[in-house]
Amino acid sequence: MRHVKNPQNPYLKYSAEYVGEPPGAKLEIFEETATKKIITKNNSPDVGFEFSVNCYRGCIHACTYCFARPYHEFLGYGAGTDFETKIVVKINAPELLRNELKSARRKIDSLNFSFTTDPYLPLEATYELTRKCLEICRDFRIPVGIVTKSPLVTRDADVLSKMNATVYFSIPFLTVEKSKPFEPYVPVPEARFRAMKTLSDAGIEVGIALAPVIPSYSESDIPALLEKARENGATRAFMTLLRLPTESLREYFIERLRERIPTKADRILNQIKRERGGKLNSNEFGSRMAGKTENWQIAVKMFDLHFKKLGFKKHEMTRKTEKKVEENIEGTQQSLF
Ligand code: SF4
Repeated sequence: MRHVKNPQNPYLKYSAEYVGEPPGAKLEIFEETATKKIITKNNSPDVGFEFSVNCYRGCIHACTYCFARPYHEFLGYGAGTDFETKIVVKINAPELLRNELKSARRKIDSLNFSFTTDPYLPLEATYELTRKCLEICRDFRIPVGIVTKSPLVTRDADVLSKMNATVYFSIPFLTVEKSKPFEPYVPVPEARFRAMKTLSDAGIEVGIALAPVIPSYSESDIPALLEKARENGATRAFMTLLRLPTESLREYFIERLRERIPTKADRILNQIKRERGGKLNSNEFGSRMAGKTENWQIAVKMFDLHFKKLGFKKHEMTRKTEKKVEENIEGTQQSLF
């Protein structure tokens, strides 16, 4: 059982500190129907998609580097173990999505499933909310992009193969040994590659996300990850550098890093600072996904070289169509009603 560790929530006035060993964290599930909207608009110019859907908040996969952790603070929880163990399930997500798509007056040319959680965390096996939302997107003919670390996505191959879908598997490390310190509860890399092949064999477009690259730790995995992805049917690929945008995330990341790979921690942290111009983070749009050193330039060249050699296609989160929602609806009226 993982021990409780939550950095101070910046939105709360008071916090408690444990004296001595903190207690173990237990999984808690909160079913929510109060949500008014399920489509979120993203205004960041360098994120690669405009609209996203997340049926859950928090993520049991517990990646130490996850930039979604601070979003849990808006709910009054912590960005540490709270993010991994207090999971909010938006049980009316499919109804909301259907209603929003029906009444939308703006152009929604694609939807992205991911960003603040993994759409295929283990709870999805029983709730099936992501699946139901995908069925709605299929009916409305909305192209979707999915980023996941879970082979559970293969369950939905029947739906995905009948729509415009691109599924990216996030696989930043080649081996279990390298993955575990950062991705403690995520299916092992081999399982993610097998799932990639299953979807590709079913005719679904798949890609690999080398996201994030941990400086001075995982750059050497880049060629082999791209090769393995290609062998398993991936046609698209992208990579991003580790981002630690908030103080709470930095605190949590550093503590777990020192706890799990103490001999490598300083080297990694020093290299992150070099990549970020002396700090542990840079929020500048355009450059925040990339590093500043020759080390990063070499990583980029290595990626580009193998990307071209292996024949990957340009990264797009979704293959967009120019249809507007109203047109999507009109086009599907007959099949829906
Ligand atoms: S799987 Fe994705 S959303 Fe979940 S903890 Fe890891 S990076 Fe965050």
